[in-house]
Amino acid sequence: ATPAATMVGTSIGAQNGVLFKGGDVLERVRDVDTVVFDKTGTLTKGEMSLTDVVALEPTTDGGSLDPSTDGDTPDPAPDGGALREVEEGEETPGDAAGGEDAETTVLRLAAAVEQNSEHPLARAIVEGADERGIDVPDAADFENVPGRGVRATVDGDTILVGNRRLLEDAGIDPSPAEEAMHRLEEEGKTAMLVGRLSERGSETDPSDAAGEAGDATDETSAAGEVLGVVADADTIKETSAAAVSALRERGVDVHMITGDNERTARAVAEQVGIDPDNVRAEVLPDGKADAVEAIQDEGRKAMMVGDGVNDAPALAAAFVGTAIGSGTDVAIEAADVTLMRDDPTDVVKAIRVSAGTLAKIK
Ligand code: ADP
Ligand code: MG
Repeated sequence: ATPAATMVGTSIGAQNGVLFKGGDVLERVRDVDTVVFDKTGTLTKGEMSLTDVVALEPTTDGGSLDPSTDGDTPDPAPDGGALREVEEGEETPGDAAGGEDAETTVLRLAAAVEQNSEHPLARAIVEGADERGIDVPDAADFENVPGRGVRATVDGDTILVGNRRLLEDAGIDPSPAEEAMHRLEEEGKTAMLVGRLSERGSETDPSDAAGEAGDATDETSAAGEVLGVVADADTIKETSAAAVSALRERGVDVHMITGDNERTARAVAEQVGIDPDNVRAEVLPDGKADAVEAIQDEGRKAMMVGDGVNDAPALAAAFVGTAIGSGTDVAIEAADVTLMRDDPTDVVKAIRVSAGTLAKIK
């Protein structure tokens, strides 16, 4: 393209909230044949709220499932059975006969750990506990396990909140919660396991709990159990489905990558019109760039669209990296294109500007 054409394109883009980092980027976008969307914060609003708290029935023989309470509404259950105020001195989780019901225990412990995390999933859990009037204790030795979850010491126990892999890595069998997890994920929610490693045998050095998972399990017998499940729901952006269908109409292949689990990812993909074969879920933060490269190794020219810090390597690896909306500075820095608005249909605009099919507005 001539310098003049590039200037016009860049200017039309800017009028539409589409910023190209230079004329070569503007030309490359035209050749994009595949768009890879990040899920959370890109196709969805990334505004999580706590929807469910499930406590597993405490058992002596290794965990039968009791999905007894389903806090689908943010309000405490009218029967008073769920999430009432915690009483002093009732600190023993699983002591269902005590003053605190099992769901409150699960949420209290989860919130204690998550108050140390900036993750949107974590904020929703802490807000959910707050709205329910739960007194959240402090936690020590907080540790973030990227793409998996978080752990910290609460009341002398190591509490873990995260996905199946987080618990498995700590030697805890998540299967007693599988039925609840499955149900919530099918609803498109992000369900997180709440697990506990018992550290009472080594109280002299509770900091061990923050170390390698293997250390903790080696030293204690009956090391851990899954206590329950908490679930957050996100909202799909109003224009996500329109963006996907406009791209497909142009012959562009649409994919989705997410750290979220397979079932949740597919539920979201279905709602926005992305082929289930084009969904890559449970991708670790480091793995997003690899996933983009795998698509490009098939000869595709991929535009990666993401908002988060953990999308930056994938944005850099893509043929074109696009940061969307209120994206983090890190994502914007790594990107070739920045969409000023939070609107996935601006991806289509970027391609149309580059192809010269979007006319100057005024
Ligand atoms: P995304 O790609 O959707 O931004 P992340 O890579 O941040 O996802 O996280 C992937 C998964 O790891 C989440 O779906 C969740 O299961 C788990 N996870 C990450 N951070 C947390 C946290 N603070 N609390 C609980 N679970 C978490
Ligand atoms: Mg994201």
